[in-house]
Amino acid sequence: MSSSDFVDLTASQAAAAIAAGSLSAGELFEAYRERAAADRAAGEDGLNCFTWVADQAPSGNAEGPLGGVPLGVKDLFCTEGVPSQSGSRILEGYLPPYTATAVARLTAAGSALLAKTNQDEFAMGSSNENSAYGPVRNPWDRTRVPGGSSGGSAAAVAAGLAPWALGTDTGGSIRQPAALCGIVGLKPTYGSVSRYGMIAFASSLDQAGPLTRDVADAALMLSHMVARDPRDATSLQFPHAIEVPTAERLDGITLGVPEELTGEGIEAGVLDAFNASLARAQELGANIQPIRLAHAPHALSAYYVLAPAEASSNLARFDGVRYGLRASDATDLLDMYTRTRHDGFGPEVKRRIMLGTYALSSGYYDAYYGRAQRVRTKIAEDFASAFAEVDFIVTPTAPTVAFKLGEKTSDPLAMYLNDFCTVPMSLAGIPAISIPCGLSAGLPVGLQIAGPAFSENKLLDAAHAFESAIGFDGAPGRV
Ligand code: GLN
Repeated sequence: MSSSDFVDLTASQAAAAIAAGSLSAGELFEAYRERAAADRAAGEDGLNCFTWVADQAPSGNAEGPLGGVPLGVKDLFCTEGVPSQSGSRILEGYLPPYTATAVARLTAAGSALLAKTNQDEFAMGSSNENSAYGPVRNPWDRTRVPGGSSGGSAAAVAAGLAPWALGTDTGGSIRQPAALCGIVGLKPTYGSVSRYGMIAFASSLDQAGPLTRDVADAALMLSHMVARDPRDATSLQFPHAIEVPTAERLDGITLGVPEELTGEGIEAGVLDAFNASLARAQELGANIQPIRLAHAPHALSAYYVLAPAEASSNLARFDGVRYGLRASDATDLLDMYTRTRHDGFGPEVKRRIMLGTYALSSGYYDAYYGRAQRVRTKIAEDFASAFAEVDFIVTPTAPTVAFKLGEKTSDPLAMYLNDFCTVPMSLAGIPAISIPCGLSAGLPVGLQIAGPAFSENKLLDAAHAFESAIGFDGAPGRV
């Protein structure tokens, strides 16, 4: 096999080939390492997917079920002795003394740390243009964004620079970049994967998950991630093992199509691909049922109070005292805090800290934070009533295909609208997957499928049936 053949293998296929002895884990790692290192060396002339690339394969774990298959890891996962900067200047050069549970579980199962992937600073963004380490380019069209905040992970997998990668999703940051890059992205049920060692953005929403070439890989990666972790009090024991999906049909499945997330604001080409997927679903035996998610249009407003509120509190720890950047020219302690935060945080992070601090301030707390929490409850109730009637809810993942670099940077509200279809599921804590469902003007479109909490096995089966019927060819994204 030549190294370009390696790149055509999914992670599951590579693991199977290694287990069968027809592929060497060392050669596979080196093939990807060279590709990733070349992208890193090219900086912003390349795709700029990585903030760090391994010098060599880590020793000694290729025997696990993941067989030494290389892994891209979003920068915000703490990895012992490896730069973990959450896309921010304030953590530049930070080498954590410990490894995040999600990463530790995957490496314990045999996956090999290949690289840390570029991301929006502290996972705040939808285009990867908020990274302190430069924007990432979309491999389908280098003048366009890969989506965000897990843009480096998504672009690396789409381009064949990593077989699969870890991301995090707070309001859409796995699903939306997966959609824009033509790959699969799964946000699991909140709490099913430990957040220990993930540099926090909004703790009641943050969740780790896979970005992969196909649905089987997403299942395989997730199966090694879920577990209760005593070091994350919000983590839960997943009620059953995650299985690799095999379904080819959707007989007896009812798919709910929410009017609120499938009409106004969604680009025509995206809607066409979405509607074609609904027709496919009917051919596969599914029933399509219009439903209402009456409070979903308020999800973004609630999210942009709740997430900044939590972020303003989580980011208070970056003060120049314990880790990362420290301003050197300060006159006293307060001046040191202020200058460090001034120099270390980018504009979007500062905007969120100000929004969140304001929303939590005395006298405004109930008007903003309290009200947003009530909207969140209403949204969760809407989903619960919908799932009494339908098995899954389907929507486009993002309202548009990948947009041009710079197109939305001067308009934060236009940028926030990217997450219109993904934020409701985040607020409700339910799992949702994005799979490629076609092209619009030559660029990938994502189909989002959401299910009730802990329905991942059924969700992956449904996604697998769709995937087989759609037959999306991701190769144009490879570099
Ligand atoms: N784009 C959204 C934001 O900027 C979601 C980010 C995420 O899921 N981490 O908050």
